[in-house]
Amino acid sequence: LLTIDGVWKRYGDHDVLKGVDLTVDSHEVVCLIGASGSGKSTLLRCVNLLETVDDGAITLDGVELTDVRADPDDVRKRIGIVFQAYNLFPHMTVLDNITLAPRKVHGVGRAQAEEQARELLTRFGLESKARDYPDRLSGGQQQRVAIIRAIATQPRLLLLDEVTSALDPTLVNEVLGVIRELKASGMTMILATHEMGFARDIADTVCFLADGVLLERGHPDQIFGAPKHPRTREFLSRT
Ligand code: ATP
Ligand code: MG
Repeated sequence: LLTIDGVWKRYGDHDVLKGVDLTVDSHEVVCLIGASGSGKSTLLRCVNLLETVDDGAITLDGVELTDVRADPDDVRKRIGIVFQAYNLFPHMTVLDNITLAPRKVHGVGRAQAEEQARELLTRFGLESKARDYPDRLSGGQQQRVAIIRAIATQPRLLLLDEVTSALDPTLVNEVLGVIRELKASGMTMILATHEMGFARDIADTVCFLADGVLLERGHPDQIFGAPKHPRTREFLSRT
């Protein structure tokens, strides 16, 4: 589905990604782990064209996203992203937050967009919140709405960047539950996470990044049970 081929990213003279290669299959869940500053968020931002890459290519469904002629808005129609701090529009209700992109970007009619949004809210236990403003919701509920908003456009790929790390620990599980449910429904996802237990539980493939290099990738049982690279071992022994 997605191919990341030799991607480099530098800020000034700091190389943040140094030739990252990664392929993601349909329905695959890939977890990116690694120390703070290793480049996880930068890689996700490159996939969504929030950053330009300095070298290499990223291809989705056989179409190169990093081609200079690619339309970033078109790419973002096919890739959803959710960040650490829930970034719902505060002046819009939950329902309007979720239906905005389907209506404005995908041209879905209001009635249909609202029906789909209500189905998603029901599926994730938030149907009673449709008319509330984000500040009336708990952090976990806001983050669940942010995830629903990201999938309302039926993206091919969902990127999740530390979606639980701003949350009170008691709220983390409800958000992880949403991600589990998305995996069960076949959503292809790349997650950057510091939750090693969750990565082990949900990932099909775990990738360990260190200083912008993808040092090791494998099945979670291998990465967490028998890491091969000394730096993976060292990182995991500290977490
Ligand atoms: P964390 O686990 O803390 O979220 P990360 O693995 O997501 O870390 P990135 O946010 O990708 O790491 O950052 C990688 C490196 O790139 C860091 O050294 C960071 O300081 C640098 N960096 C990120 N964004 C910028 C920017 N806009 N300008 C300059 N440097 C940046
Ligand atoms: Mg990050």
